[in-house]
Amino acid sequence: MFRSKTCGELRLTDAGTVVTLAGWVQRVRKMGGMVFVDLRDRYGITQLVFDDATDAALCEQASRLGREFVIQITGKVSERSSKNSKIPTGDIEILVNTLNVINAADTPPFTIEDDTDGGDDLRMKYRYLDLRRQCVRKNLELRHKMVMEIRKFLDDLGFMEVETPILINSTPEGARDFVVPSRMNPGQFYALPQSPQILKQLLMVSGFDRYFQIAKCFRDEDLRADRQPEFTQIDCEMSFVEQEDILQIFEAMAKHLFKSILGIEMKDPFQRMTWQDAMKYYGSDKPDLRFDMHFVELMDVLKGYGFGVFDGAAYIGGICAKGAATYTRKQIDALTEYVKRPQIGAKGMVYARVEEDGSVKSSVDKFYSQEVLQQLKAAMNAEAGDLILILSGDDAMKTRKQLSELRLKVADELGLRDKNQFKCLWVIDFPMYEWSDEENRLMAMHHPFTSPKPEDVPLLDTDPASVRANAYDMVINGIEVGGGSIRIHDSKLQATIFRILGFTPEQAQAKFGFLMNAFKFGAPPHGGLAFGLDRFVSIFAKLDSIRDCIAFPKNNSGRDVMLDAPGPLDQSQLDELQLKVDIK
Ligand code: ASP
Repeated sequence: MFRSKTCGELRLTDAGTVVTLAGWVQRVRKMGGMVFVDLRDRYGITQLVFDDATDAALCEQASRLGREFVIQITGKVSERSSKNSKIPTGDIEILVNTLNVINAADTPPFTIEDDTDGGDDLRMKYRYLDLRRQCVRKNLELRHKMVMEIRKFLDDLGFMEVETPILINSTPEGARDFVVPSRMNPGQFYALPQSPQILKQLLMVSGFDRYFQIAKCFRDEDLRADRQPEFTQIDCEMSFVEQEDILQIFEAMAKHLFKSILGIEMKDPFQRMTWQDAMKYYGSDKPDLRFDMHFVELMDVLKGYGFGVFDGAAYIGGICAKGAATYTRKQIDALTEYVKRPQIGAKGMVYARVEEDGSVKSSVDKFYSQEVLQQLKAAMNAEAGDLILILSGDDAMKTRKQLSELRLKVADELGLRDKNQFKCLWVIDFPMYEWSDEENRLMAMHHPFTSPKPEDVPLLDTDPASVRANAYDMVINGIEVGGGSIRIHDSKLQATIFRILGFTPEQAQAKFGFLMNAFKFGAPPHGGLAFGLDRFVSIFAKLDSIRDCIAFPKNNSGRDVMLDAPGPLDQSQLDELQLKVDIK
């Protein structure tokens, strides 16, 4: 047997037994005539002791071990005189009597410990070493556990996991495709799935009834902390269901994960909020509800007093930061600068402080009497010690989004976004369409297979922008973890939707003909959703970026710096594919 125990399992009760361990040398310490080695594997760290007085040659050999050498040892488990309560094996050590150096190692480019000296780039280049660090490995362990729980949960409910192909053609999730040239079909390309959307709908037409897949998806978008060009979805679809059935099942799945993984019992039903309300009160379709600080519209309160910025505004909204009247002028200026950054784009910010005596002092005292400022205080439900922050603009939606950024920023500063607290929410009743300035047409807000609310169908031709969809998102702590919809299962309605989206019947037929044809052969009513597994895990692991729960992630330019991908093709490969590269 190569090893009899792992480096994480020996306890005081094992004292006296002889064991064989194998692993990596984390650290070597020499003290007097002794050499101490921390031996590490996936399961933990065990202290090895080499004693000069017992075996001088062996001790000398141990003193020459370097970091990350792979070794195998045999020795006796014994109680430590000075115990280490920080690690589970901290009560024991191994008095080694044989040492087998299996593989020497070069000095690693950074220390392989939780507290490492390696920067991000270096760690990504040597990701296989980074993954040896316990703090990184535990995120992947958590991911594995979550996937196992999800599979168990869905299997128990009769969901069947079906794999769908990766080499397909474009799927309409609104991002750019990654494409793969086809050697056997020169000049033609596959697209990698942005999601298995169409395939899972076809599986419903096939009668699979309850499908899921832990599916790789690919979207060529600009990257952010919560986006990777390839990511994993828990993709689900069901037949003969209504929206309520789906919300119930997947709320139960989320609760099951909270319970089984984090030991958190979520008794109350998840809050539900319409998209309209989410935008009105929080300026976001994924509001973070760990704290309130909702928007109050102030048009009636602040318009008409000669302050040009407000008088000309289409929207004036405020938030009340509880207890933040202590903000210094410098802090407030920093907030103003924050909202004025081009990414946010506000023109300026007005503030009002509620003093200890209840009076209000604002940055626009010139225009507003104390009486009006008291009305402001009342409208904001503000008390002594609070800080009111106000944004205005000529586009209500844009201003709300700016105010949303401000709300999150202030909450961060006030420590209201505690990663140990979880607030789950369903956002429902999304609009079917949103206007795209870029494309100069209506676009599907979710995707073109989403069904309209039956009561809104008559509006499709007269006022499409006001049509609501049977679409929903699950939001946890301000992060969209999942979303889906009840689909259209009627080829005529589907054709109408394509028309409103600006497809001619020929274009719709060319792009989605197979789906509309499939619907002619008996399509059941169906719907589903997909969760972003990486996001879900990173919330549970309390990470700032999804990269930390992905074994081999890409960097912000979409590169895998370890594999050095993407890279050029050999001329022979290009020739075989009949491709010519013409970089401008
Ligand atoms: N395919 C959708 C997405 O990737 C999810 C769904 O509608 O089931 O967002």
